[in-house]
Amino acid sequence: MSTSEPLPRKVIPIAVSPDRGPIAPPPGADAEMVSLYEAHKKIYPRSVSGYFANWRWALVWLTQIVFYGLPWLHWGQRQAVLFDLGARRFYIFGLVLYPQDFIYLTGLLVISALSLFLFTAVAGRLWCGYACPQTVYTEIFLWLEKKTEGDRSARMRRDAGPWTSDRWLRKSAKHALWLALSIWTGFTFVGYFTPIQELAGEIAQFNMGSWEIFWSLFYGFATYGNAGFMREQVCKHMCPYARFQSAMFDRDTLIVTYDEERGEPRGARSRKADPLALNLGACVDCSLCVQVCPTGIDIRNGLQYECIGCGACADVCDTVMDKMGYARGLVKYSTQNAVSQHWTRGQTLRHVLRPRVLVYTAILGSVMLAMVVSLAIRTPFKVDVVRDRGMLARMVEGGRIENVYRLQIMNATEAAQDFDIAVEGLPGLVVASEHGTGAIGSTQSRWVPVRVQSPYDAASAGSHPIRFVVKGSNGVGRVTEKSVFIVPQ
Ligand code: SF4
Ligand code: SF4
Repeated sequence: MSTSEPLPRKVIPIAVSPDRGPIAPPPGADAEMVSLYEAHKKIYPRSVSGYFANWRWALVWLTQIVFYGLPWLHWGQRQAVLFDLGARRFYIFGLVLYPQDFIYLTGLLVISALSLFLFTAVAGRLWCGYACPQTVYTEIFLWLEKKTEGDRSARMRRDAGPWTSDRWLRKSAKHALWLALSIWTGFTFVGYFTPIQELAGEIAQFNMGSWEIFWSLFYGFATYGNAGFMREQVCKHMCPYARFQSAMFDRDTLIVTYDEERGEPRGARSRKADPLALNLGACVDCSLCVQVCPTGIDIRNGLQYECIGCGACADVCDTVMDKMGYARGLVKYSTQNAVSQHWTRGQTLRHVLRPRVLVYTAILGSVMLAMVVSLAIRTPFKVDVVRDRGMLARMVEGGRIENVYRLQIMNATEAAQDFDIAVEGLPGLVVASEHGTGAIGSTQSRWVPVRVQSPYDAASAGSHPIRFVVKGSNGVGRVTEKSVFIVPQ
């Protein structure tokens, strides 16, 4: 190499860390600034119709009818579903739960987690693509966007152009609709915690409580921000499920797949052309599958963590295949094994029922059964026993020893009820105060003072275990609670 020739430059890209700034190159190397952070490009999903889109819309309707309608339903004199945090009562149709019933909430969470494991093992991100609130609200917001601003190409053209009066008008209409829906969503959410009819009355009279205003606006703006602006960013960067779902996937999980063997080599061609003669696969490289994708990915690049399994690309590709006169299913729900081993639909479905799925199903079924049985045999009242610390054990008339307790009795039924209190555990032990509690109103609780006496010589000095037995006077339910009886020296 002649000395006049310039030496080849050793260029080291400099990474820019958000925390530490530019990372210094090794000594002696030329440096070139390269940002490792790609600027966010707005995604304009094209609207799509088809089999999976119909399913998604069916679930949008179903989930939203339930969400917006449930707080307006009545059960007797009260709201059918109400989580009254102030009174610490949770009403779910005929069921009244207290904080002591926390175990049912735990059961519900276990069932939700196991269902997620099961559905993911069977069909990937089924929840994400069809029923997740982020997907559902994004779908509704996109529909409103399409109604006000037109479909993808019109929106892209308008956004790239100047701010005309038409653009202002359309954007304003869109945001007004988004905001109205968001505020209604926030109001409905709060209606699960405060009786919704009272809440509506408070709004009409402009005297809503500060917490109710805060949570309505907070939930409303979270909906507006997530469904209107964040959209796929939530699925890609914020949702933890996207991160650990791969642990539940295997090669027999149903996912949206592109049949590479059939589709490649891809390329445009006329409808009448013979792809074999042109040495082309079935993919006409129209890019529609990318345009409809709400997360902006190309399914032809294989399984990607951004894919929410919504099936939009499968729907649009089927329409392309129909137009070209090719068989449907170039993009479809299938498994990696089914695609690579050319399994039939029956073979694929048979492999879906594998040991992991059967184990998840068995555990889920057992937990659900246990929860149903436990709810069915649950006693319709609760009892808490507290020894009255202000009143020590003492000797009373007739040479008897007396301890005083306070029993909190919570009537979890929808009707007023009397309760009968008895005690056992020592010879001659009796309830010396009233045995009956008197009527305790529906879903009300009451502290009842109870004096318990035992004969002087029934037990030695010290602490003795005893049991309170509380029965509903209508014969429904029997609760036993442990306590201790103190015999003084
Ligand atoms: S929609 Fe189908 S044909 Fe069009 S690019 Fe995607 S995979 Fe190829
Ligand atoms: S790749 Fe297909 S299934 Fe996955 S998110 Fe995009 S459109 Fe939905």
